[in-house]
Amino acid sequence: MKYFGAHVSAAGGAENAPQNASALGATAFALFTKNQRQWSAAPLAEAQIAAFRSACDRLGYTPAQILPHDTYLINLGHPDDEALEKSYRAFVEELRRCEQLGLDRLNFHPGSHLRRIAEEASLDRIAASINRALDATRGVTAVIENTAGQGSNLGYRFEQLAYLIERVEDKSRVGICIDTCHAFAAGYDLRSAEACERTFDELDRTVGLHYLRGMHLNDAMKPLGSRVDRHAPLGEGEIGWECFRYIARDRRFDGIPLILETPDETRWADEIAQLKAFAGEV
Ligand SMILES: [Zn+2]
Ligand SMILES: [Zn+2]
Repeated sequence: MKYFGAHVSAAGGAENAPQNASALGATAFALFTKNQRQWSAAPLAEAQIAAFRSACDRLGYTPAQILPHDTYLINLGHPDDEALEKSYRAFVEELRRCEQLGLDRLNFHPGSHLRRIAEEASLDRIAASINRALDATRGVTAVIENTAGQGSNLGYRFEQLAYLIERVEDKSRVGICIDTCHAFAAGYDLRSAEACERTFDELDRTVGLHYLRGMHLNDAMKPLGSRVDRHAPLGEGEIGWECFRYIARDRRFDGIPLILETPDETRWADEIAQLKAFAGEV
């Protein structure tokens, strides 16, 4: 079974996200459990938690269909100790919010070296942060997203994802999320079924597809290898429909949230319907 959805609004509280997803005909969704541009948030109230869980039950969303995303401010590879500590504390808070909501995974961007330390030194800080955060929490898997490699963002090579996973002690609580736009911008071709075959084979050899806990389905505004992160509606960017047909039809992508982060949310319902049609699930 394929789970298709979008990163929906949680305005007014996480408990509103399931209804927003359901209105799109989505069988999956992503959300921020707090404002993505602020460091702190009020703790989740018992009533909110109960409302979120009951909405998920009523609308048929299990944790395997939900991919929460952390705030953009967090940098687990920060070169500065104090700033790293601030990011670490915010990350643990995010993991705890997921745990409270009954969710089993948290999608995050690995981090940035800010051109102040070497890539490897920053990756080591990220791995140490993940280990520490997993020790301090229970049940939620840390899902590392590949990036476009814009600026000094790490995680743009599959080898970097593998490097991090190798250093995480509890392999049962680490996974990856592949964003198609980010992969393409980082130089992994996805423009044909053959290109997809090569790219996902490379991912399998380098990291292992069994670590896949979700995907972001986005077309790309900028050309292959541009290292620029600009999402486009499906079929309207440099990647094209073939990649999304390939993913929808391939059983290796069953059972995980496949999430749109495409820029025009008025088209999400149609994009989801098209993906379901490709998967033969209409
Ligand atoms: Zn992301
Ligand atoms: Zn993404």
